[in-house]
Amino acid sequence: MATTQECIALENQFGAHNYKPLDVVLTKGAGIWVEDVEGKKYMDFLAAYSAVNQGHCHPRLVKVMQEQAARLALTSRAFRNDQLPFLAKELCELTGYETMLPMNSGAEAVETAIKAVRKWGYTVKGVEADNAEIIVCDGNFHGRTTTIISFSSEDQYKEGFGPLTPGFRIIPCGNIDALKKAINKNTVGFLVEPIQGESGVVIPPEGFLKEAAEICKLNNVLLVADEIQSGLGRTGTLFAFEHENIRPDMVIIGKALSGGMYPVSAVISSKEVLGVFNPGDHGSTYGGNPIACAVAREALKVIIDEKLIERSAELGKYLLNKLRNIDSPHVDFYRGKGLWIGIVLKKESGGARRFCEALQEKGILAKETHENVIRIAPPLVITKAEIDTALEKIEAVLTQ
Ligand SMILES: *Cc1c(COP(=O)(O)O)cnc(C)c1O
Repeated sequence: MATTQECIALENQFGAHNYKPLDVVLTKGAGIWVEDVEGKKYMDFLAAYSAVNQGHCHPRLVKVMQEQAARLALTSRAFRNDQLPFLAKELCELTGYETMLPMNSGAEAVETAIKAVRKWGYTVKGVEADNAEIIVCDGNFHGRTTTIISFSSEDQYKEGFGPLTPGFRIIPCGNIDALKKAINKNTVGFLVEPIQGESGVVIPPEGFLKEAAEICKLNNVLLVADEIQSGLGRTGTLFAFEHENIRPDMVIIGKALSGGMYPVSAVISSKEVLGVFNPGDHGSTYGGNPIACAVAREALKVIIDEKLIERSAELGKYLLNKLRNIDSPHVDFYRGKGLWIGIVLKKESGGARRFCEALQEKGILAKETHENVIRIAPPLVITKAEIDTALEKIEAVLTQ
């Protein structure tokens, strides 16, 4: 078997350097556990940015994936397959939306939402051609395509990649007056993460989303929730927007939709909005393929059958309380919902990276986000006993 050093050297030589991963080379995973090529075991406290909510290599997902791969993998949407219709039905029934459109990566689903909202603006709302505007929040993360980075507030995501796509307005996250001011006759949508993941588990002020939803409705602006990371149980509800009792016009999902098995994403909405797409308007060769749909169907069932949403709510509360009891000289504050917690470190503590490296030493893999935040997001199948084990190690690192 290849060694850690060999793998790192090869990747450095032959791979593009668009990431700065922790120097751990993983080769196996089961549940919340992953194992590196040296045989050392770790608790995965990132869960592939919440794609692995169901745990690594969930046996039910592995089985469905193997069986579907052996039966039929790809038809393209030129023909129909016998998995997509059932995923569509089950997803709509679970979420209460009328219709869905399948894609692969999260960014593709965000692009799909942008196209749908723009076309709805022109064909339903009556916005003048090529004038549609979409409002987004400061600190957003919606993916890495050229159009999506065009409305990122992160300079590094944009620098060197212009010319950028016009038609977006950025408002300060959580500022309702700014939202009101940004809306004009050309505004077609407000695209928002109910809780910002990449920004460091940033929760907007209570009531913001509720008010935003009312303002959108009043102005005939579509509210689009990007639940790619916050959705499917991560925050202790199926969707994070449920904490504010709202119902967005459109929801974007991905990541845990396949439990980490395969890239599967989707946009769910009303027939009025997704109905703007006519045959030939939009598509994807792999979008809605039989493996993706079979795996997604099972991944959704696992979330329900194993009560992962309830688990996330209960254990998340437990973990956050326990963390708050740690007397650490480095921690500024904690924030979180469900099993999704940001440990915000003090400026003078030298950044989150060194704490993540210390956690790695102790057998916990977590990733810093935005210099000063350690994001805690284990697979939702984690047990209370495992959380207690992890807490001891986290405490040791935060108090050292
Ligand atoms: C990860 C993520 C995306 C992009 O998904 P990819 O599959 O990486 O393209 C979009 N929005 C949010 C909120 C995400 O967390």
